[in-house]
Amino acid sequence: MRGRLQNKRSALHEETAPMPRSVAAVHAESLHNRDAFWAEQARRIEWKKPFKQVLDYSNPPFAKWYVGGTTNLCHNAVDRWAATQPDARALIWVSTEVDQTLEYDYRTLLAEVNRCAAMLKGLGVGKGDRVLIYMPMIPQAAFMMLACTRIGAIHSVVFGGFASVSLASRIDDAQPKLIVSADGGARAGKVVPYKGLLDEAISLSTHKPAKVIMVNRGLAEMPMTPGRDEDYGALCVKYDGATVPCEWVESSHPSYTLYTSGTTGKPKGVQRDTGGYAVALAASMETIFCGKPGETYFSTSDIGWVVGHSYIIYGPLLAGMATLMYEGTPIRPDAGILWKLVEQYKVVSMFSAPTAVRVLKKQDPAFLKKYDLSSLRYLFLAGEPLDEPTAQWIAEGLGVPVIDNYWQTESGWPILTAQMGIEKTRTKFGSPSFPSYGYDVRVVHEATGEELPRGEKGVVAIMPPLPPGCMSTVWGDDARFVKTYFSSIPGKLMYSTFDWGICDEDGYYFILGRTDDVINVAGHRLGTREIEESINSHSNVAECAVVGVADQLKGQVAVAFAVVKDASRIASPELRKAHEAEVMKLVDAQLGAVARPARVHFVTLLPKTRSGKVLRRAIQALCEGRDPGDLTTIEDQSALQQVRDCLAT
Ligand code: AMP
Repeated sequence: MRGRLQNKRSALHEETAPMPRSVAAVHAESLHNRDAFWAEQARRIEWKKPFKQVLDYSNPPFAKWYVGGTTNLCHNAVDRWAATQPDARALIWVSTEVDQTLEYDYRTLLAEVNRCAAMLKGLGVGKGDRVLIYMPMIPQAAFMMLACTRIGAIHSVVFGGFASVSLASRIDDAQPKLIVSADGGARAGKVVPYKGLLDEAISLSTHKPAKVIMVNRGLAEMPMTPGRDEDYGALCVKYDGATVPCEWVESSHPSYTLYTSGTTGKPKGVQRDTGGYAVALAASMETIFCGKPGETYFSTSDIGWVVGHSYIIYGPLLAGMATLMYEGTPIRPDAGILWKLVEQYKVVSMFSAPTAVRVLKKQDPAFLKKYDLSSLRYLFLAGEPLDEPTAQWIAEGLGVPVIDNYWQTESGWPILTAQMGIEKTRTKFGSPSFPSYGYDVRVVHEATGEELPRGEKGVVAIMPPLPPGCMSTVWGDDARFVKTYFSSIPGKLMYSTFDWGICDEDGYYFILGRTDDVINVAGHRLGTREIEESINSHSNVAECAVVGVADQLKGQVAVAFAVVKDASRIASPELRKAHEAEVMKLVDAQLGAVARPARVHFVTLLPKTRSGKVLRRAIQALCEGRDPGDLTTIEDQSALQQVRDCLAT
């Protein structure tokens, strides 16, 4: 059957064997009959060459899914549907920032992706090369991601809200041959110019990309570097009508890397495979997100985050759905915009974050009733803890079930969630329900590694192998993958989520916050160490501590305590204010506004143990008005008083 696609008949939803009808039964089947379960799921996508082995787990904790199989993510997301439903809507782009709407059906999406693939190839990008995408929420970003996977290049999307230092560290780690960017993004009516940040990042990085493709939206200055920078518009003319065949890659071939924050200042490149990811997403679209070909899916996330990768771009397209890509905020032109879009495009599944709902909660609730939402089956919320009042408010306001799902950049798809496509289970407010099939989730004691009985709080861990779709390693650093994720549960090779959790008597899980120094600001995951490094680079800062503090709107915000070198610069309240603004500006410039602390307090020393460890948890407790616990280990108690004094002002 050379040159023919295998499993063609089984590609469509209707043709896959129905799953057993209970979530518990499917979960048990996925763990106890793992190979058969995932072999069946693999029929959801098209393979060029069938796999020989479902899982190679000969080198724990590294899991290789669908060994020997070749496939292509772009083929499964675009070409396959362009052949069977060319006129069906594929990508709908709505920008309330520039007041523009564009629609692409599968035929035109394929043409755009082909053209971008031709550009990349024409500029020397090939299989395995990295392409860094630093772009706002515009269709060209989606075309470029798909064009990369089409030709076997590895994309690395960097969130447009990050600034030059964050970007430079990612350029150095990914070593891209080419970068794609745009003149600017827009947020709440304000233009965010990208080119200056990009040029500065390239000047800071050791690695220099050979080429940069710039999309000109007419929003901001875009000075071009001759010989390096290429204009997207001119390339479109040059490659108009070009077609590029899909590169059939091994299932384990990296499709992309996505950087995420951890406990060190250096972000980790989460590496994803091709075959396992495609299968996991395709399965999740039916079992978790309940979408069908031809229907519309709407995720309000950003392509810079994992939700954007999995559920703006790949997931909906793998399911033959239309994906709605939105550039704008939930409250402009008014707080009804999201629901207006649901009505207009007959959205069936919508995915957002608790923060967006908390923003809407401050607006007139009449907006929730203004539009016809009868197409909407579910609202999925993820990325941060979903508090009960928020969940209740939106569920009642919209009259649709709200599904909390819990996952991480590392997992790529939900770890804990209701799976309404399998069984309509009851949901409990505050709980993302049960483990998804394939995830062997345990709650373990942080010091002994022992599994805890139901009702007891512990660390949420996953017994490997991790299911298809999860990260395969840290880009370029297998040792870091093992050390970071599989070495913290005593005595056991288990994946730690670094989240506290509890499983109740009914088997429902509750997530209770991070065990490490990662904070979650409006659903954006940030490492406090990265922010500390940035503040420490200020010439008048000797050292600092950054903690995450509970916030009603954003979930958490960063608060910094900095030790200044020259105290005369903070000698009056006015000087302090000015100095605080200066430090915030520095963080904005280096990391981006998403990382800006809500407050920067100045002190002369930090609360530390005798061994020099900064007691961030005690600082955090004080900031949140909680009991800071045992403080006898603090070497100089006056440091605590300084923290208290700062908070009192
Ligand atoms: P990220 O990798 O940016 O998606 O962040 C993952 C982290 O966000 C998790 O480790 C959790 O701390 C938090 N998180 C994600 N989803 C949820 C949820 N549904 N409930 C509570 N915390 C969540």
